[in-house]
Amino acid sequence: MERFKIDTLNNKNRMSTQELLQLIQAKIEQGVTSFEINACGQHDIGGASYSRVKGENLKFFVKNPGQRLGAMGMKGTQIIVEGSVPADTGWLNSGAEIVVKGDCGDTAGHCSASGEIYVGGCVGARSGALMKHDPQFKTPELWVLKNTGSFSFEFMGGGIAVICGYGCEDMKSVLGERSCVGMVGGTVYVRGNISDVADCVEIKALDKEDIDFLNKGLQRFLEKIDKKDLLKSLTSNWSGWKKIQPVKDKKSEPRMSIKEFREKEWIEGGIFSDFMKDDYKVFELGGTGMARCRIPQHNSAECINCSLCEKKCPQKAISRVSGGYIADAEKCIGCGICAAVCPKKAWKMLENNKDL
Ligand code: SF4
Ligand code: SF4
Repeated sequence: MERFKIDTLNNKNRMSTQELLQLIQAKIEQGVTSFEINACGQHDIGGASYSRVKGENLKFFVKNPGQRLGAMGMKGTQIIVEGSVPADTGWLNSGAEIVVKGDCGDTAGHCSASGEIYVGGCVGARSGALMKHDPQFKTPELWVLKNTGSFSFEFMGGGIAVICGYGCEDMKSVLGERSCVGMVGGTVYVRGNISDVADCVEIKALDKEDIDFLNKGLQRFLEKIDKKDLLKSLTSNWSGWKKIQPVKDKKSEPRMSIKEFREKEWIEGGIFSDFMKDDYKVFELGGTGMARCRIPQHNSAECINCSLCEKKCPQKAISRVSGGYIADAEKCIGCGICAAVCPKKAWKMLENNKDL
C-alpha cells in the first residue's frame, strides 16, 4: 500500500502531538495502514492503535520522533526509525515490532509486556526495567546491538533481553552499574564485560537451548537493523556470552511485620508522627467475597486436572472437589491468576455486578 505522508513542520508551524495523533487515527479509521512521518519530536507515535483493514498490519516509517515511540504498541503494528530516538521507546509495548536503527534514550522497553524491540545502537539508563510476561501473550523481547545504561533490568519480572556488546570491548560493564536490582523473572543474554550486577541474580554459561535461540534470533535482529554482516563476529565465540537469571530457591528472610518495619526501619513513630498517632493498621487492598471486582468460574469440561491453578493461586483459595475445582469466595480476591495460568482456559473471570 502507498504510504500516507505527514510532514509535521510546515514552514515554522509545528504540528502538536495531539494534532498528529488525531490525524493518524482519522486516517486509520479511513483504512490507511502505512504511514511515513517526518516528525519533530511528537510523542507516542505508533502506539495503541490497530489496523482497520483485515489482514494488513499498521506500518510507521518515522524520522525524528519524540518520547514514547510505540508506547502501548499493539500486535500488528510495525515501526521503523532510521536514526536515533529519545526516552521511553516501546514503553508498555503490548505486541508491536519496533526497529530503531540508531540509539535509544533512557528506559527503552520499560514495562514492555509483549512484542519485540530491535535497537541498532545502545540504550540508556533503566532500559528493560519492569519488563514482564503474561503467559497468555508472546514473550516481550528487547534486542540491543551495543550496551545499556545503568540500572538496566531493574525489577524485571519476565521477558527476554539480548545485549550484544558490539564495539564495547573496552567497557568495564556493558550493562552499566547496578543492573538487575530486584529482578525476579526473565532472562538477560549478554556478551562482553559485566560488573556490579545485583546479588539477586546469577550469571550462567549458555546451554544448547540458549545458543539455538540466539543463533536464530540474532539473524532476525541483524536483518532488521541492516547489520547482517555482524552475524559471524557475534556468534563465533559463545563463551563470550552469559545468561543472567534470578537466583532460584533463594531463602527469603523472615518477613517483617508492617508495625516492626515502621518502628525499626522507618522514621520513629511513622512519617506523619508529628501530626497524628500511627495505629499500625493496614488496609487490605484485595476485597474478597462480593467485594471482588471479578469472580472466577470453573468449567470442568475443559479442565485436564493439571492443578496449576491450585498451586499458583496466591490466596490458596482453590481446591479440588469431585467433578472439578472451586474457588473459596472468602479467600479469593479475583486477581485472575488462575485464569492466566490455566493451559485450557478452564477458568473464566466474570465481572461482578455485570456478568452476575
Ligand atoms: S482469582 Fe486469584 S485469588 Fe481467586 S481463585 Fe483465582 S488465583 Fe485465586
Ligand atoms: S490450571 Fe486449568 S486445566 Fe489445570 S487444573 Fe486448573 S482449571 Fe484445570
